[in-house]
Amino acid sequence: MRLISFSPPDVTDKEVIEVSKALKSGWITTGPRTKEFEQKIAEYVGVNKAVCLNSATSALELTLRILGVSSGDEVITSSYTYTASASVIDHVGAKIVFVDTAPDSYEMDYNKLADAVTEKTKAIISVDIAGRMCDYERIFKIVEKKKNLFQADNKIQKIFGRITVVADAAHALGAEQKGKKAGQIADFTTFSFHAVKNITTAEGGAVVWKNDIGLDDEWVYKQFMLYSLHGQSKDAFAKSQKGAWEYDIIYPAYKYNMTDILASFGLVQLSRYPELLKRRRQLIQLYNERILPLGVEIFEHSGKDFTSSGHLYLIRIPGIDVEQRNQIIVKLAEEGIATNVHYKPLPMFTAYKELGFCIEDYPNAYAQYRNEITLPLHTLLCDEDVVYVCSKLEKALESLTCR
Ligand SMILES: *Cc1c(COP(=O)(O)O)cnc(C)c1O
Repeated sequence: MRLISFSPPDVTDKEVIEVSKALKSGWITTGPRTKEFEQKIAEYVGVNKAVCLNSATSALELTLRILGVSSGDEVITSSYTYTASASVIDHVGAKIVFVDTAPDSYEMDYNKLADAVTEKTKAIISVDIAGRMCDYERIFKIVEKKKNLFQADNKIQKIFGRITVVADAAHALGAEQKGKKAGQIADFTTFSFHAVKNITTAEGGAVVWKNDIGLDDEWVYKQFMLYSLHGQSKDAFAKSQKGAWEYDIIYPAYKYNMTDILASFGLVQLSRYPELLKRRRQLIQLYNERILPLGVEIFEHSGKDFTSSGHLYLIRIPGIDVEQRNQIIVKLAEEGIATNVHYKPLPMFTAYKELGFCIEDYPNAYAQYRNEITLPLHTLLCDEDVVYVCSKLEKALESLTCR
């Protein structure tokens, strides 16, 4: 039997060496390595500036704070995502508005998205599931069309003069749409470097914003620095420079900064990323060749004008219910294969039920969840592992009664 984990980190000696160097450098928290990682992320994405923080969740939350989103405001997101896309809306005191997915889709139903916009809507958090970008042309059309409803409460909202589009691209670093990389399309885009993501720093995240939307890059960057480090006018590195001890606290803020130890990890991961992405795409190809003949629905990772980052291998098995889906997951586990479900719709969780959400209002999201299984997709898999997973999946499908 093979033992196939779901998404182990791909860590080489290179990362070990760079992290050791950072540890011994005399500076382990936010400093030169974090600044270098920010520059490298911005270069990779193709934007002027990036901010690295301790998680993508922090990046999303601070984006909403910088936009001045707070109580009395509404933010729309998908019902079919990880809790972080929605919890951040609650963190800033705004109202979460969930939109159902379109039939047979992992993306929001864009007609329902348009209907969900009110004069209180300040932002849309779109989710680039599995690393495939949403239909941003459509989203921006909706935002333009609903411009007359928008009420700007502050300077930055006035600059936009419309709802701000924030991409939860936790999965989507390196994804492309119409020749543009994730990070160049939505107004703000957040990435995750959590342990299971395409590149990792164990915990970490980044946020970028689009060039040429009228934002002053230095001002935005400064806001992220203040919000993520106690509202302190100088970071610890700047304070440590000769005689420069004095600082101000501008407001009681948060503590979301990235450390240089983790940035050194990320720098190596990012330098390896083109190679890792290539391998992910090969693995997807291998999977597709073997999964399609099984009569299982696959998720398209590439097409005429898009390429995903190949983050998750999502399949749906026609005609089965939740119980049968879970049986297959157990059968695969018995063969040493770890799988997952992306996602259990948020209205099914206690936290969101207590906020008044009800899964009956999101039937498409439920239908999507009912027969979904996520197969292992990561760069430690060899070709034979994929063959093994596919043959065990075939066996599990055959064993299903009444199919
Ligand atoms: C992982 C993930 C996040 C959160 O990322 P962190 O870096 O762990 O905060 C947010 N949204 C989605 C869709 C994710 O998968």
